[in-house]
Amino acid sequence: MPVVATEPRINAKQNLLYSHNACTPGWKHRLGLRSVNRPVFEGAWNCSPTCLLPRITSAIKREAGDGCGVSRQYQHRLPLGLLLLQQGTITQEELQIVLQAQRTAGHGRFGDWLRIILHMDESTIARSLARQWSCPIFGITDLQPARMALLAPAQLLHASEAVPLRISLEGRIHLAFRESLDASLAIAIERMAGIRLDKGLAMAHDFEEARERIEEADAIPVTEHRVDNTPALEDILVRSIMHSQPVASRFVRVHSTFWLRMWLEEATLNNGIAGPPHSPIDIQDVLIHFDPPAQ
Ligand SMILES: [Zn+2]
Repeated sequence: MPVVATEPRINAKQNLLYSHNACTPGWKHRLGLRSVNRPVFEGAWNCSPTCLLPRITSAIKREAGDGCGVSRQYQHRLPLGLLLLQQGTITQEELQIVLQAQRTAGHGRFGDWLRIILHMDESTIARSLARQWSCPIFGITDLQPARMALLAPAQLLHASEAVPLRISLEGRIHLAFRESLDASLAIAIERMAGIRLDKGLAMAHDFEEARERIEEADAIPVTEHRVDNTPALEDILVRSIMHSQPVASRFVRVHSTFWLRMWLEEATLNNGIAGPPHSPIDIQDVLIHFDPPAQ
């Protein structure tokens, strides 16, 4: 179970020793305080919020890169209709008919209307998309729903229309997208899991089935926050880490959302290393949506 952090009661002399200038697990150990190695953020032990804050600040700077996480660098490519037209799969007239049907209905994806109006099969659509993205089409026969439900918060997967399928025999994550690849999400999941990831597409009905089966499995508890400035973001991160006292934690960004994952007990680690979880027990996710006020 998560260890709830309590402020250690220490006298003035200890307090001096306890300052983060003397911040090594050894000091804490010699002082006879328990939890000699918590909380850990990105591989570093932190004696206090004072000690943790600069690490948080630089991690946010690193993740934000181009201003605080507001950029949406989706790799825009040709819309599906134009792509099929260019590839000679449909005619200009067919394109117009499908677009008109979609517009009149006021809902539904272009791909769905292609199937309805032109009776185009999913594999034709998937092959066209795969050619556009130069990526494989993944099947779902060896889907690992229980394990995949633990890989990333559903909120992030939904936003990018992605679903993880399995960890391959070669130890690589297969991450499937519905229509377009999202490099930001893929890199974040890869860094969080600490193993390599391959991006691909899944056919519509495979995608839906995989998503349903994964959503039925147990997920890691998520706390969500919304902030509009960097100090508020820092504050949530420091509080979360000091409160949960993780033995390992990682921090990444997906578009305008920051994702902190905390491994709370040694048993959740693999030879001391945080990796793709095997169980939702004693792992926590924190999602912080960064939404700066319009200028
Ligand atoms: Zn310290």
